[in-house]
Amino acid sequence: MSDGTDSPSELIRKAEAAGISLLALTDHDTISGWQAACAALTPGMDLVLGAEISCQTEAGISIHMLGLLFDPENEALLTELAKTRENRLTRMDRIIEKLNVAGIEISIEDVMAQLSDGATLGRPHLADALIAKGHVDSREAAFTALLHNGSKYYVSHYSPTPEAAIRLIKAAGGVAVIAHPYASQRGKIITAESFTSLVEAGLDGIEVDHRDHNESEKASLLRVAYSYDLAITGASDYHGSGKVNQLAENTTALMQWEKLESRANNRRVVRK
Ligand code: AMP
Repeated sequence: MSDGTDSPSELIRKAEAAGISLLALTDHDTISGWQAACAALTPGMDLVLGAEISCQTEAGISIHMLGLLFDPENEALLTELAKTRENRLTRMDRIIEKLNVAGIEISIEDVMAQLSDGATLGRPHLADALIAKGHVDSREAAFTALLHNGSKYYVSHYSPTPEAAIRLIKAAGGVAVIAHPYASQRGKIITAESFTSLVEAGLDGIEVDHRDHNESEKASLLRVAYSYDLAITGASDYHGSGKVNQLAENTTALMQWEKLESRANNRRVVRK
């Protein structure tokens, strides 16, 4: 229900077919896929519900914070997610305006035609609209040429600081894992020192095994995780056909998962 290309039920079916024993669903800034995912679940696979919360540091660095196992009725967290989603709309208008000024013909209607009902709007939908209009031939090409974080067409949107997002997740009883923190090819990344304030806010884990980290970045993150006794996770960041990432190309060790789950205030893994 954000920028992946599978529906929640398709994702569940593919994960079950791939033999995955425990799957996390983390759409960008929304929990609107939770219900459909639960409905599609069959015995044999456990489901961890969550969201990937867009954040920005005070220095303007983009961070994705995974919130897992939180209470879906927590008003403060839901309100914050809604605020971000709303701001993504005006942000899209501003990106489109810049593209139009440069002579690239695309409209907000073209972009909205790429979005399923209730889904979080993002640059990948703009990429899909640019493909449909014949401006580029893939999401990858759209990002490389026009939509990457350093592009002159880039516009950011409102998002909480990572510390604020962690506090919201923790207050909602969930656990907070920072996603791909050293994915340096995406843009500016945080320093090892920045983890101190994230840990003070309540950070529970670090996503280490991710295709956008090289071996030395993984080694550095492992040192950070050990020094703060954080859980270490791996994840595919699977987006259907929207990215090359394959389901379960990275996984989380059972012991690490148990460590993470024990830090939530309730047992919320969904099991049929
Ligand atoms: P946004 O949330 O609108 O800032 O867009 C960020 C999303 O774009 C991320 O979740 C990525 O999944 C996606 N993205 C970034 N770079 C690429 C790329 N080269 N190809 C496909 N998707 C990408």
